[in-house]
Amino acid sequence: MQLYQNQELKIYNSLTGKKDIFNPINEGHIGMYVCGPTVYSNVHLGNVRTFMSFDMIFRYFKHLGYKVRYVRNITDAGHLENDADEGEDRIAKKARLEQIEPMEVVQMYTVDFHNTLNAFNFLPPSIEPTATGHIIEQIEIIKTILDKGFAYEINGSVYFDVLKYNETHNYGKLSGRNIEDLIHNTRALDGQSDKKNPQDFALWKKAEPQHIMRWPSPWSDGFPGWHLECTAMSTKYLGEQFDIHGGGMDLKFPHHECEIAQAEVSNGKSPVNVWMHANMLTLNGQKMAKSTGNYILPNDFFTGDSKHLSKPFSASVVRFFMLQAHYRSILDFSNDALLASEKGSNKLMEAINYLEKLPVGNTTDFDIEDWKNNCYNAMNDDFNTPILIAELFSAVKFINQVKDNKASVTKEDLEDLSATVHAFVFDVLGLQNIEPCNESPDKLSDTVEVLIKLRAEARANKDFALSDKIRDELLAVGIQLKDGKDGTSFSTN
Ligand code: AMP
Ligand code: ZN
Repeated sequence: MQLYQNQELKIYNSLTGKKDIFNPINEGHIGMYVCGPTVYSNVHLGNVRTFMSFDMIFRYFKHLGYKVRYVRNITDAGHLENDADEGEDRIAKKARLEQIEPMEVVQMYTVDFHNTLNAFNFLPPSIEPTATGHIIEQIEIIKTILDKGFAYEINGSVYFDVLKYNETHNYGKLSGRNIEDLIHNTRALDGQSDKKNPQDFALWKKAEPQHIMRWPSPWSDGFPGWHLECTAMSTKYLGEQFDIHGGGMDLKFPHHECEIAQAEVSNGKSPVNVWMHANMLTLNGQKMAKSTGNYILPNDFFTGDSKHLSKPFSASVVRFFMLQAHYRSILDFSNDALLASEKGSNKLMEAINYLEKLPVGNTTDFDIEDWKNNCYNAMNDDFNTPILIAELFSAVKFINQVKDNKASVTKEDLEDLSATVHAFVFDVLGLQNIEPCNESPDKLSDTVEVLIKLRAEARANKDFALSDKIRDELLAVGIQLKDGKDGTSFSTN
């Protein structure tokens, strides 16, 4: 018996516009595809948020006992600067500017992506395919779409015919756009484009002579359109119909709308049961984005070296901050919010550290079954991590009461409570209770005592800048000083 058999999970489906009860196509198995990064620059914290939302979802599925095939691609070709199939390939442009090979760009930023995700304690996906590794599959899909009459070739490029498709299908059903508005609102063709209509999108583009990323095809030496890779890779690894397709909200249109159109024509079926879209991280109320310079890089948090940050923060605190918001809500970044998250995260970890030291009694003053149900209900309600975290803090309150001898817990209940807290905090939310260093505890406390003494001296000399610096630097590595009437003590998280 697996946990999922007792749970009713509801997921918000962008396609139906409501929370639907989730039932996978094959019982016990889930196929999930998430659009991965275009590896032409360092990922920023906004990108991390979207991938973290799906990491949390992947983790919860696994916790429920599902066997999950999670495919997250690497876009290493075909993504042009502009969504209207114009401009240079982002990777080729970077290669030209840096005077290196496109595949050096790809390698550099794929490594950066993996290092960043490792720092934030992500689970690796089951398969991480690349666009360039699937050119043959993409060409085959174009041939099928051409054969079925939903695409046309012009001067070595192939375009998907959106108006033709919309005669028998519904282009816009995911994003809620209607074709009339699209026709009205799309910029007129500038005479440079080969497209019949501006809303058509490229399946294959003929490469200009200077374009270095090119592959042979029946139509020209060229490269695939960006939307096609995800149809090729999701079909190959998850089948013509699979359970979940995810990505950031900004991919809903045109990227995901085009994926649906391609797959419906080439496979004759609607490809995805549940479309999931994670919302944006904003900075000063604006979407975090490389192109506008409005972003923070993950590494800035670890060094604290950013105008947006007052000090360094651990990856787990940043993770906690992000998961305190629901994945479908916009989250605005601020240093104050992050400081509050750090406090919350420290409090949670402190309580977890007490768990094994708590005294046990003959009764339990906490309804553990009810609390457990609340935790599952939160996650079953479209992965409501803020509610789950609030529930975890009910447990923290109880743990602290037991610690202060104001409440009692039996041995069995404590084991149950401890296992559930650990499962949700570490397995599902993916938070980490990191020891600040590998030194032996004695050596660590001797070192901290020396620093506490130096800080006391600095304060006695009214050198508050130095005393605050000592306190803040210790906090940055997870050591919190507490001033009390008997002097200063410290705790680690
Ligand atoms: P890209 O590499 O630009 O294709 O983006 C990778 C992923 O990050 C996509 O799923 C985007 O939707 C997502 N993304 C980009 N900017 C943000 C942001 N500010 N907040 C959350 N997700 C974002
Ligand atoms: Zn995609």
